[in-house]
Amino acid sequence: MVEASDEATREHSHVQRVVYFLSAMRHYASDLRHRGYTVDYAELGTVSSLEAGIEHALAHLLPDELHATEAGDYRCEQMLEACASRAGIPLTWHANRLVLCSRGEFADHARGRKTLRMEYFYREMRKKHGVLMDGGKPVGGSWNYDSDNRSSFPKSGPPEPIPRPEHRSDRITSEVTKAVAEHLPDLPGRIDRFIWPVTPEEAQSDLNEFIEKRLPVFGRYQDAIWQNEQLLYHSRISPALNTGLLDPREVIAAAETAFREEKAPIASVEGFIRQILGWREYIRGIYWYSMPDYLEMNELGATEPLPGFFWTGDTEMNCVSDVVAGLNEYAYEHHIQRLMVTGLYAMLLGVAPRAIHAWYMAMFVDSVEWVTLPNVIGMSQYADGGIMASKPYAATGKYIQRMSNYCASCRFDPAKATGEDACPFTTLYWDFLDRHQEKLRTNMRMALQVKNLDRKSAIEINAIREAATIHRNKGNAS
Ligand SMILES: Cc1cc2nc3c(=O)[nH]c(=O)nc-3n(C[C@H](O)[C@H](O)[C@H](O)COP(=O)(O)OP(=O)(O)OC[C@H]3O[C@@H](n4cnc5c(N)ncnc54)[C@H](O)[C@@H]3O)c2cc1C
Ligand code: SF4
Repeated sequence: MVEASDEATREHSHVQRVVYFLSAMRHYASDLRHRGYTVDYAELGTVSSLEAGIEHALAHLLPDELHATEAGDYRCEQMLEACASRAGIPLTWHANRLVLCSRGEFADHARGRKTLRMEYFYREMRKKHGVLMDGGKPVGGSWNYDSDNRSSFPKSGPPEPIPRPEHRSDRITSEVTKAVAEHLPDLPGRIDRFIWPVTPEEAQSDLNEFIEKRLPVFGRYQDAIWQNEQLLYHSRISPALNTGLLDPREVIAAAETAFREEKAPIASVEGFIRQILGWREYIRGIYWYSMPDYLEMNELGATEPLPGFFWTGDTEMNCVSDVVAGLNEYAYEHHIQRLMVTGLYAMLLGVAPRAIHAWYMAMFVDSVEWVTLPNVIGMSQYADGGIMASKPYAATGKYIQRMSNYCASCRFDPAKATGEDACPFTTLYWDFLDRHQEKLRTNMRMALQVKNLDRKSAIEINAIREAATIHRNKGNAS
């Protein structure tokens, strides 16, 4: 096992992301040793990269063959293949037990299809794994309760108390935090609110707490946002799932049991299971089906640099400022904050897909390329031209106003596209439609939005273009 510093410095990494991975690794190594295994472990500061660590091990241990679990990332797979080839030994890949759909199964699903939509894949997975099924039919008579998953909070805010996560720092995590401060000073983000589970037992305890206290309300408010509330009723299990501290099968079974025992409604349980059995598996399928080309996709020809306030939160846009402040505190945003605040703003502004992808990789405790890349390049930026999403997730500030309480205390007005108090999201939305109208006109699902653009006069369009240019120049200067 190698604590490779270049994994944290290739792109700037949030300090919690680094501490999380290294602490989970050290706990795992300690557990293996207790179980009688010999672990060859390189601590931070001794080896610069995973490749160097493997080369070193190959040179010293002189194995006859190399065995590996299917790599998460394309880069890692290529690197291991190259190491084995240089050493002149065979490399055997083993199935990854942390996913339910193998690469081959996804390729079978994709073969012959014109489009790859998550919904059809998800239904196949439900049937294949017998999840939320009554005989051959979906439980409750419907495959999908998405329309019950979109409520915003009442004016008074989240209706049920949100249990506060505990700060976690045992001896190993404290040692890792010190080592990171010594070897990798100046990483972005705060470390004083470290809440992430670093052992399977801690992850299981968090899952139990979610199923009991938050799952019943999760579904209804899955898309809602609230100022100063980064975590809400979300499960926060993505880091544990991505590092293997939790098995997705057990998570799905725990949620289904809560439904069967009438402890959580179908809309919550189906909504939650859809994220894991549907979205997560589908995203992994898309990644391996489309790499390495996916990394370079830029359908909308976006070239803007990432504004500096994505790191600091120093912007007058209340929504972006609050989301980035929460991100610095927890290395986490929930899905709609990622998709409809930071992701939406970057797409409307026209940030280069590689630049916004690098930011998502850096700042999130759960980032690993196979899951971050399709979510960023495909779902949030539409840079894959519709492989994943049937249309760009483009919206004005009014979407954020509907789903949150941000706009009430913002100096901008989400209804306005021009003028001193115009909301930058709204300005950039119309500018986005205007800039890409030729392409968007060919997409039936964008017809209504483009039609609304056609209703604007030439004077209005010119004013929007001017406002967008002024905003773009200001944003890039900060
Ligand atoms: C721009 C963007 C970047 C993202 N980057 C990442 C990332 O780096 N790592 C990551 O794990 N997820 C990523 N996601 C997906 C999703 O936002 C996170 O999985 C989720 O917010 C994690 O919080 P949670 O565990 O509280 O999720 P919950 O809302 O409680 O959902 C439960 C679980 O479902 C899975 N899930 C939900 N949505 C997705 C999805 N779209 N893709 C894959 N799995 C999903 C996750 O494992 C998650 O833990 C990204 C989404 C967007 C729009
Ligand atoms: S008015 Fe615009 S910038 Fe301000 S919080 Fe609302 S959406 Fe965000």
